[in-house]
Amino acid sequence: MSDCIFCKIVAGEMDTKFIYEDELVVVFPDIRPKATTHILITAKKHIPSLYSLDEHDTRLMGHMVQLLPVIAKQLGLHSFRTIINTGRDSGQEVDHLHFHLLAGNLPKFG
Ligand code: AMP
Ligand code: ZN
Repeated sequence: MSDCIFCKIVAGEMDTKFIYEDELVVVFPDIRPKATTHILITAKKHIPSLYSLDEHDTRLMGHMVQLLPVIAKQLGLHSFRTIINTGRDSGQEVDHLHFHLLAGNLPKFG
């Protein structure tokens, strides 16, 4: 989508440095980090949120989950938190599917 900031990042139109890239995802630092480490595992496909997933996205979702420990290990993290906001009331700001991976200085949750 032409007006989607994460589609622009995926297309390489922004000055965003990728930590990791493959055919399905890009991984890059959050511009406003909420923890010592805060990165976004972002689908290349424009999917607005978990709410609009369908059966065609099963492989992508499995891949994104499987990548979490791979990226964490690359960054030397033994502990991390994963967040996926879905919808405005959850705090979702960017309507393009992404996982937050956070570590360091995290408030207790749950
Ligand atoms: P969410 O609120 O779950 O939709 O998360 C969107 C995240 O994207 C926020 O934490 C923002 O700080 C982050 N963000 C917005 N624009 C950019 C950008 N250009 N580069 C990196 N992160 C961004
Ligand atoms: Zn998009």
